[in-house]
Amino acid sequence: MRWSGQQLGVESDSALPGLARLNNLVRSVQTPEFAGITFHEVLAKSALNKVPGQSMMPFGYTINPYRGCSHACTYCFARPTHTYLDLDAGHDFDSQIIVKVNVAEVLARELKKPSWGGNAVALGTNTDPYQRAEGRYKLMPGIIEALAGSGTPFSILTKGTLLRRDLPLLAEAARAVPVDLAMSIAVYDDELQQSVEPGTPTAKARLATVSAVREAGLDCSVFMMPILPYLTDTTTHLDTALAQIKAAGATSVLYTALHLRPGVKPWFMQWLAREHPELVESYRKMYFGATSYAPKEYRKWLAARIRPLIARHGLTRGEEDPVTGGVRSTALAAGGSPRSSTPQFDFGVAAEVGPEAWPNTAPRAGPRAGTARAAREAELARERGRGHPQADEATLF
Ligand code: SF4
Repeated sequence: MRWSGQQLGVESDSALPGLARLNNLVRSVQTPEFAGITFHEVLAKSALNKVPGQSMMPFGYTINPYRGCSHACTYCFARPTHTYLDLDAGHDFDSQIIVKVNVAEVLARELKKPSWGGNAVALGTNTDPYQRAEGRYKLMPGIIEALAGSGTPFSILTKGTLLRRDLPLLAEAARAVPVDLAMSIAVYDDELQQSVEPGTPTAKARLATVSAVREAGLDCSVFMMPILPYLTDTTTHLDTALAQIKAAGATSVLYTALHLRPGVKPWFMQWLAREHPELVESYRKMYFGATSYAPKEYRKWLAARIRPLIARHGLTRGEEDPVTGGVRSTALAAGGSPRSSTPQFDFGVAAEVGPEAWPNTAPRAGPRAGTARAAREAELARERGRGHPQADEATLF
């Protein structure tokens, strides 16, 4: 969706060069509490995004109150959407946040239209609705009220612990419509988490939010997405993660191996070259050229490793909505939709952009002995020694 399609016919003198086309811009704001972040407040003309399903599947709907995300995950597949605004998919995506300040009012109007079919709506499938900006703008309460008030089932997927603020409202909404909540927690090693998704709350804080959701009487799934080859796919990491997910009271768990679409790959590989140069070659082989998915053999290997662990921890595997990429709605699971249950991400929202520019891979000093990173790398080395499938090119390509 391009902002030029949402023009209100008012020219903004204050637009940044990259946002010159954004003539529904109200103002750009920087505040001391959000150092390094600029909020561009816009008036949206629409709130509901129609996401085409695949083949014979129906449409799904999503809402994105924000564009860009200060959670700054290096692997975020939504990054290329920022290039629609002539902003870059790297630092600009993390720090130039578009805020649809009128999204709740616009949504309420759209949901009142006789043509609205009451389809399930997913939040959090493109950018995070509970990123830090939500503490300032408080857009979600109005969105939740509009959805519940119109009888529209909805799902929320987030990494934001700010979800806690709205739990009373969500519990009330769940009495009116199916509400599906999920917390995304992929990395259970604090050092790696702070490096690869530097704007996110810790795994511990997110797990505590899962527990709070359950205490509020609501189900809560955990998305272990993405699982990073060589970094978070060790038996130790997966086992530790699943033990913590179980202890937090999660209702179900979903997992997927890292997906690197072309517009995201250069940014992720820059991070990898800086933080784990020893893995660059392995990742290049796995995600060679325009390949976005991890090799099938790797995905099979991962499934064989993680599924018994999921079962051993007494967890249930959840289902992802194949159209929106959010958690599969209980309204749909009840049999109200012909949607497929094949888990996959929603890649329909963002654009494929730009040729890839692979980074340099200068060698780097190893981790200090005794640190969590040193322990992780020692385990990774042991994994490779045991014939990790990614190390065996012949099985992959
Ligand atoms: S929290 Fe989600 S939307 Fe935000 S940067 Fe991370 S992956 Fe992207």
